[in-house]
Amino acid sequence: MNILLVGSGGREHALSWQLAQSPSCAKLYAAPGNPGIEVYAECVPIAADDVDGLVAFVRTHAIDFVVVGPEAPLVAGLGDRLRAIDIPVFGPSAAAAQLEGSKGFTKDLCTRAAIPTAGYVRCTSAEAALAALADFAIPVVIKADGLAAGKGVIIAETRAEAEAAIADMFAGAFGGAGAEVVIEEFMTGEEASFFALSDGTNVIAFGSAQDHKRVGDGDTGPNTGGMGAYSPAPVLTKELEAEVMDRIIRPTVATLAAEGTPYVGVLFAGLMLTGEGPKLIEYNCRFGDPECQVLMMRLTGDFAALLHAAATGRLADVPAPTFTGGYALTVVMAANGYPGTPEKGGAIRNIAAAEAGGVRVFHAGTARADGAIVAAGGRVLNVTATGKSVTEAQTRAYAAVDKLDFASGFCRRDIGWREVAREAR
Ligand code: ATP
Repeated sequence: MNILLVGSGGREHALSWQLAQSPSCAKLYAAPGNPGIEVYAECVPIAADDVDGLVAFVRTHAIDFVVVGPEAPLVAGLGDRLRAIDIPVFGPSAAAAQLEGSKGFTKDLCTRAAIPTAGYVRCTSAEAALAALADFAIPVVIKADGLAAGKGVIIAETRAEAEAAIADMFAGAFGGAGAEVVIEEFMTGEEASFFALSDGTNVIAFGSAQDHKRVGDGDTGPNTGGMGAYSPAPVLTKELEAEVMDRIIRPTVATLAAEGTPYVGVLFAGLMLTGEGPKLIEYNCRFGDPECQVLMMRLTGDFAALLHAAATGRLADVPAPTFTGGYALTVVMAANGYPGTPEKGGAIRNIAAAEAGGVRVFHAGTARADGAIVAAGGRVLNVTATGKSVTEAQTRAYAAVDKLDFASGFCRRDIGWREVAREAR
């Protein structure tokens, strides 16, 4: 099949690497792609959120199948537009993508399907939110309902902070995303990410990961899109995974199907492993970035065929995905300044040397300038290695990081610390 992959980050570089290796993939295009993706796909200059441009390209290039990386085009209806012209697409309809696009939508779904999650109220005015706040203990979580690039969640440690967050959101701090606010009970526990593939009816587990959101070592400093990740998450045991499938994932897929909005694509569940068992924090309707990179590193088999089966309601007919034993770990190299204003244009050298011995350096925010690779975004590279333990994968990833010449970049030096400490015991 001829496949179009939509997106341009490290996640899509990892997806393109797996798709290009798939026996069922004849030709891979990427829109818009990046200098790393260019090795595996023909990149076409159409932005990932240019829904009209993408549909026009699919019509004129004999595309058989579309895989969508980021959430924005899904929330904007790319899946619906392609299905309307009979093109299978891996990614949900706009209605089902509300799982990510509206926190209130997901919380109400949890209520209808009895899915374990934090107690909550949805509020459409500051007055209602301030009144509802009185019923919550401190700390309390205040969330803008819509997409806010990971920034629309405030963990308020005092009532005054919660009130200020509510006021800010209704004053437009997150634009339209804050027109509705969700107030949530604060949960404690360890966080883990769980992935499942759904064809609308059938759903299969697709592995777990843990990431590091803070910019600094020891999980300090401001939040980022993710500074590193490892997979699988040992904290999510086989028993807990089975519980997550039974109590969270399957009820979600069954309820959406029964309500006429079947979910096709990857369900990325952010979980809190609480004393009362796993609870859902949130859903994303795409692979995590950088969690995808570690999943792709461990995956074996025909990935394109698997995603196509999900897109065409045939997940029950194909072999379950298999992953290599051991672990994968990725270290994000960011440009100096990130998560504030990143320094652009910094030269990057020695990628080939860093990739020796099976390490992969996925490109996130890079560009080509005069034939050289330079930084062109906040998160720039994802240095990804495997190992028999998280510790071994970590050692191999940092050995590769140290071979890279990226003077205007930095990374955390402790990705996987929690697991490395457990393994040392
Ligand atoms: P991201 O883009 O980082 O996934 P998001 O804006 O979609 O973020 P959430 O995942 O819902 O928002 O929340 C972000 C983070 O806030 C979570 O990873 C978790 O650490 C924390 N958080 C959210 N809800 C709760 C809660 N009810 N109790 C405790 N912590 C929470």
